[in-house]
Amino acid sequence: MSVGPFVEVADRVFHARFPQWDVGVGLVLGRDGAVVIDTRASAVQGGEVVTAVRGQFPGTQVSHVVNTHVHFDHTFGNIAFARATVHAHEAAARSMEADAARIKGLFAADPGDGPELGYTASDVADVLATRLREPDCTFAASATIDLGDRAVTLLHTGRGHTDGDIAIQVPDADVVFLGDLVEQSAHPSLGLDCWPLEWPETLGSHLTWIGSDTVVVPGHGRPVDEAFVCRQRDELGALAGLLRERRLIGMSLADAQHEPDDRLPYPLEHLAAAVERVWAQLAPDATRIG
Ligand SMILES: [Zn+2]
Repeated sequence: MSVGPFVEVADRVFHARFPQWDVGVGLVLGRDGAVVIDTRASAVQGGEVVTAVRGQFPGTQVSHVVNTHVHFDHTFGNIAFARATVHAHEAAARSMEADAARIKGLFAADPGDGPELGYTASDVADVLATRLREPDCTFAASATIDLGDRAVTLLHTGRGHTDGDIAIQVPDADVVFLGDLVEQSAHPSLGLDCWPLEWPETLGSHLTWIGSDTVVVPGHGRPVDEAFVCRQRDELGALAGLLRERRLIGMSLADAQHEPDDRLPYPLEHLAAAVERVWAQLAPDATRIG
């Protein structure tokens, strides 16, 4: 195996980290093909993944691409994998076009915090120039990719970071890719499409097949273990509990976004969208809206 960005995390299962948005890409090799998990943020960056796979694993055919969820930094590189079948959850596929238009609009209006998040103006130009390649295969609860000598399982157990997050399991190697349901290099990202009240339970159900030896690969950062996922599940559980409490006692949205509390697991300035989501999803009389 020649040198390249992919590091083996278990038998024939690899992970590469890239500086722009610190996003990770997975690679699972099998007898009859290979699966790439997430494709980075643009056609150019997806092309770099194709080149890296070709250089590091000569002769490997990427037969399948899996998107862990809808966000651009995980899906815009799909277009570079012309001969692969692209898989995603049905909810991710449903919102991909609208989400792509949204993110392009945001970057066109304000290129944002480039150096801090590892990207340049040229990366933004690449994002804006990327033509979306939508998934070919979608599923509701689970799907399996057969690589001949091993299987890769895709599982959706509920909403969290988005409404279409999935886990990608490689059972024979005891590896699980969790996309942005778990983040290692930053706090979990709670945006305007997240489900803060359901996220802890979703993560909890994925934990049922994560054991003490399982390698867990997050969407951003280095691989982690069961204890790390439990901790993040507990933090998200504490957050959900606190936001639910604030909603139910009738606190205003603005107060809930600014009132400090030592029990909050993440800085308040990162939680404005999460609060907004809970206010939209839960009525003060405890009836779930969304
Ligand atoms: Zn994301």
